[in-house]
Amino acid sequence: MTYQVDKKGYYGEFGGAWIPEMMYANIEELKVKYLGIIHSYTFQNEFTQLLKDYVGRPSPLYYATRLSEHYGSHIYLKREDLNHTGSHKLNNTIGQILMAQKLGKTRIIAETGAGQHGLATATVCALKGLKCVVYMGALDVGRQAPNVKKMKMLGAEVIPVHSGNKTLKDATNEAMRDWINNPVDTHYIIGSVVGPHPYPDMVAIFQSVISKEMKSQLKAQTSNELPTRILACVGGGSNAAGAFYHYLDDQAVELIGVEAAGKGIDTHETAATLTVGSPGVLHASKTMLMQNADGQITEPYSISAGLDYPGIGPMHAHLFKSGRAKYLSATDEEVLQAALLLTQKEGIIPALESAHALAALNQLTLLPEETTVVNLSGRGDKDMQTYLDHFGY
Ligand SMILES: *Cc1c(COP(=O)(O)O)cnc(C)c1O
Repeated sequence: MTYQVDKKGYYGEFGGAWIPEMMYANIEELKVKYLGIIHSYTFQNEFTQLLKDYVGRPSPLYYATRLSEHYGSHIYLKREDLNHTGSHKLNNTIGQILMAQKLGKTRIIAETGAGQHGLATATVCALKGLKCVVYMGALDVGRQAPNVKKMKMLGAEVIPVHSGNKTLKDATNEAMRDWINNPVDTHYIIGSVVGPHPYPDMVAIFQSVISKEMKSQLKAQTSNELPTRILACVGGGSNAAGAFYHYLDDQAVELIGVEAAGKGIDTHETAATLTVGSPGVLHASKTMLMQNADGQITEPYSISAGLDYPGIGPMHAHLFKSGRAKYLSATDEEVLQAALLLTQKEGIIPALESAHALAALNQLTLLPEETTVVNLSGRGDKDMQTYLDHFGY
């Protein structure tokens, strides 16, 4: 059993490139060249250097003493919240901007929902002096004003999308249309392990630096590179893919993804794709997704904008189906409490997304001798208004 992508771009029955013919040339170019570029000496050199000097890697593996006491078990936090721009997202956009340059592209497009991926893309475009166009649902442009302003200050053009529900799905459709019309000079930076092959694999490779560091940090700190389990939140699944990557074949390590239950998996206001979804094709990939009886995508809901996605990367659909990884979900209410607990036990205000992984600690039996690593995907600055509204400080 392999958990890696096969030559045709599939993880078991999931994945592939279910693209319109008009996009074939763009995807084919990337598919043929991406591995050669990634494994080249110059790419590795530039990527490693930027991760170190610009992003601030390696991110620390922090032993959370008071949280460990609280749970009566050893808990480590992988501090992706300390990266430049405050989350794991930059690992991927740094990789992809270098990829775009090696492919000779001069114009970058991206889609964004909450604005976090748009921001990470606008950041690397400023870093490299490339033109940047970000598609964003008109409703999201209104809801995420601070991120829109940051993207503009970074020099990106933000295009509001007025079709459909005016949210992420519609922005993605518009970005794909742009790419079809600009196949020669443009690279499309996708923000998670989703979309057509080779994107899920390419993004997972860029994010795999998380588990690569985790192994050597655990070895140095506990003399065992294998923890009992790894917990990570799952929207599209990129921070989880990065945290799981180098442990996929270490069957002794329990891998647990945590989805957003929203107001509850038995309400219609949820984003727990694996729990309530079924197989289908979304954004050119066969995967699990939330859909109605007619196969129309249903609008997801979560308190955290970054997990508010109606699908999941094909790698996770396969890890779920094969049983290699387990997927739990946490409700908005559980997540807020978990965020408050971390804040007051460790002095770290987590992103709402990351607090889903923390909330799942309450659903597990943690033994005193066990070691759990929680991938802390991002910091909570962007979520302060939600926290303040809820806790009433
Ligand atoms: C975007 C985001 C996520 C969700 O994306 P994945 O691809 O599932 O990792 C999680 N945490 C933070 C902090 C984010 O910004």
